[in-house]
Amino acid sequence: MKLEEKLYLLSYKHDKQSHISIRDNDICGTACAKTWGRPCTTFCPANVYAWDGEKITASFENCVECTSCLTGCPYHNIDWRLPRGGYGVQYRNG
Ligand code: SF4
Repeated sequence: MKLEEKLYLLSYKHDKQSHISIRDNDICGTACAKTWGRPCTTFCPANVYAWDGEKITASFENCVECTSCLTGCPYHNIDWRLPRGGYGVQYRNG
């Protein structure tokens, strides 16, 4: 089974409030782009992070709470917290 197929088995309770933010988008557009190639756009298994041409966007609704972004960003530029109580991914079906 492919990863994408497994992700479809998960269920989520979506919050309106994001539990992810980028601390400084200037770093993403300059130093990280030149030196590292914005690795958050590839290491996240749920494809939460994308470069929209000006900034990194975070589709927090898709987060599987694997916490890879806490160590994967070379600049520790991602402020990731657990979703508020009762929200987030549910692994019952996955
Ligand atoms: Fe920005 Fe970190 Fe992503 Fe690089 S890895 S683009 S610094 S959030």
